[in-house]
Amino acid sequence: MAEYKGVMVYGELLEGKISSLTTELLGCGRRLADELKEDLLCILVGDKLDEAPKKAIAFGADKVYTAEDPLLKEYQTDSYVTAMEKAVKDISPRVLLFGQTSVGRDLAPSLAFRLGTSLSMDCIELSIDPGTKLLQQTRPVYGGNARGTFTSETFPQMATVRKKAMSPLEPDESRKGEITPIKVELDPAKVKTKVLETVKEEVAGVKLEDAQAIVAGGRGIGSPDGFKQLEELAKALKGAVGASRPPCDNKWVPDTMQIGLTGKIVTPELYVAVGVSGASQHLAGCSGAKNIVAINKDPEANIFREARFGVVGDWKQVLPAFSEKVKELLAG
Ligand SMILES: Cc1cc2nc3c(=O)[nH]c(=O)nc-3n(C[C@H](O)[C@H](O)[C@H](O)COP(=O)(O)OP(=O)(O)OC[C@H]3O[C@@H](n4cnc5c(N)ncnc54)[C@H](O)[C@@H]3O)c2cc1C
Repeated sequence: MAEYKGVMVYGELLEGKISSLTTELLGCGRRLADELKEDLLCILVGDKLDEAPKKAIAFGADKVYTAEDPLLKEYQTDSYVTAMEKAVKDISPRVLLFGQTSVGRDLAPSLAFRLGTSLSMDCIELSIDPGTKLLQQTRPVYGGNARGTFTSETFPQMATVRKKAMSPLEPDESRKGEITPIKVELDPAKVKTKVLETVKEEVAGVKLEDAQAIVAGGRGIGSPDGFKQLEELAKALKGAVGASRPPCDNKWVPDTMQIGLTGKIVTPELYVAVGVSGASQHLAGCSGAKNIVAINKDPEANIFREARFGVVGDWKQVLPAFSEKVKELLAG
């Protein structure tokens, strides 16, 4: 039986550079590897990896494995799963981490199935059990109302990790590490899908996922015009506007603004929920916010159970005064 050793991070690339979530995974992986007294490994898959392997070392990796092939130019399930299966079987890491991104959500389950191991998705905390050395994988359960911690006895121990749940290390360009190319044989005939076009999401201002302050509107906002008032507050906070599902379903705002179980997961410092009832499916996307402030006319609304601060009232009356005070405080 293979000896499983090391903590491996799947390094996701964005426009040729390692993503911020990958740097967070490397920060977390470094801590786990140190606890295990084993190496932190990073695997990078793509067409031309350029400076990415060196960056992974600067962010904490001891060894970087690279799989380069023209068939790996864009993410595509068949070619990426094949390349990763070969690499993971050759290297036999103890732990294998992915980001909870659209790539991670597709690649990690397919790979876990091929490797005959289990996987915990959307983890927010990872640690090593000192006795068994197994990975303890903590993730929200019951739509974000509770947390569950899981361990598995199959290897590699696989998890996907939510954005901003972990902290990256300060990059150190002088760090030394090993870069090892791995050969993957890919058969173009087995690649069943083709990327025809990549459409970039147009965002004016701060991206919802990156915003440190989010003003989110719910059904209680009542119209697209109402959202314009939320924009004003978001602008003052240098943040972004989000929404619960009904405003997106009603086409008051684009679907890309939806936060929740079937929308985006956000973890800002400040989340102002206006006219949002606090359904578990919505909280699944925002319960990682450091501070939730709720404005709702119903004192019994569930959002008040999650909120650190709450105002009971009609948002049309509360918001102008709230926004003015925020502007005043930020100016002072
Ligand atoms: C499988 C599944 C997936 C889902 N995924 C998501 C998801 O990703 N994201 C999501 O958000 N939902 C999702 N939902 C829907 C979710 O269950 C709720 O229906 C939804 O979150 C409710 O949105 P809301 O809070 O805006 O609306 P409501 O629940 O209707 O609440 C509106 C709130 O506004 C308040 N209000 C009304 N008028 C005012 C006023 N003038 N001033 C102040 N407050 C006012 C009301 O008191 C109420 O609390 C999903 C549901 C399912 C079944």
